[in-house]
Amino acid sequence: MIPVTRPWLPDKDKYMEYIGRCYENHQLTNNGPLAQELKARLEEYLGVENLLLVANGTLALQIAYKTLGVSGKAITTPFTFVATSSSLRWEGIEPVYADIDEGTLNLSPHKAREAIDPDVTAIVPVHVYGNPCDVEAFDRIAKEHDLKIIYDAAHAFGVRLNGESILKWGDAATLSLHATKVFHTVEGGAIIFKKKEDYDRACRLINFGYEDGEVVDEGINAKMSEFHAAMGLCMLDEIDNIHKNREEVYYRYHESLKDHFEMPVWNEGATRNYAYFPVLFPSEQALLRAQQRLNEAGVYPRRYFYPSLDEVRHCRSDRYNSISRDRTRRVLCLPMYAKLPFSTQEQVISSLISLEYL
Ligand SMILES: *Cc1c(COP(=O)(O)O)cnc(C)c1O
Repeated sequence: MIPVTRPWLPDKDKYMEYIGRCYENHQLTNNGPLAQELKARLEEYLGVENLLLVANGTLALQIAYKTLGVSGKAITTPFTFVATSSSLRWEGIEPVYADIDEGTLNLSPHKAREAIDPDVTAIVPVHVYGNPCDVEAFDRIAKEHDLKIIYDAAHAFGVRLNGESILKWGDAATLSLHATKVFHTVEGGAIIFKKKEDYDRACRLINFGYEDGEVVDEGINAKMSEFHAAMGLCMLDEIDNIHKNREEVYYRYHESLKDHFEMPVWNEGATRNYAYFPVLFPSEQALLRAQQRLNEAGVYPRRYFYPSLDEVRHCRSDRYNSISRDRTRRVLCLPMYAKLPFSTQEQVISSLISLEYL
């Protein structure tokens, strides 16, 4: 069976070396030396400051909202993974969906602006598939209306815009370091704060609100363990290799499929991290036919994202987002991971091209 993605497992001996350190020093969690080393190395690799490691990407979003005092409502995109919205709800914040841009499939700044009302305190855009949002437009809107911006950058590890990390934009940007992402710590996440004071507060929030042995804030437990940090350190040792492998897979698809399928429009000044390979079908019917054909051959692409979150029962809102509803019905993510076998990829490509819906 060929899945849509397959986690990268780094060198086992290397992993055991890192774990060996835990056995020697008996520090298993609570911001130990491995977590500290991973934080420092990630800040350097990504070119950012104020990076806080946490237990997963969903908590990263929740901690970011809490740290920044987001309340009432937040404008967000319906074209994303459910965690972008459910994390808002868990913090008692109501998601207000604004529609996406038809080319990039990212939250439209124009539509987001239209959705602002007096209860809105934040905007939560997503760099969908690692493709940077129109960050300058969101920046202007946030300044005009005194709103916080939290970017869900779960897909955007390592992406740069005009030579700088995309994670520098917004009051905070969050990463998921889940096993299925480009860079992972098995389970894990990170928050990159613009301001040091927000970073400092979040450090307390993820550790029960403790500072110097005293509870000074309303905290929770969202710490990353040493065993997870060890995986991150091994992954970072191999990240260039992972990136190169993904790039090859990406361009093989791109060369073969670019004349047959519509694809999201990439932000011009941005690099790619080759996290996903989404293609748009002319209709949902065509997508379903292709999906069935691939499934019969043991290939399992994923309808990512489907459905549009404004159509999900517990998320539903009054706003009708026609572009998101249309694109969620037509988009399919093809198997995409480092070391995807060449023969499998050829099979996926020829199967897609041979279908007669074109
Ligand atoms: C993966 C993902 C998350 C959640 O991250 P976890 O680490 O799995 O909690 C949030 N938002 C988006 C867009 C994601 O793809």
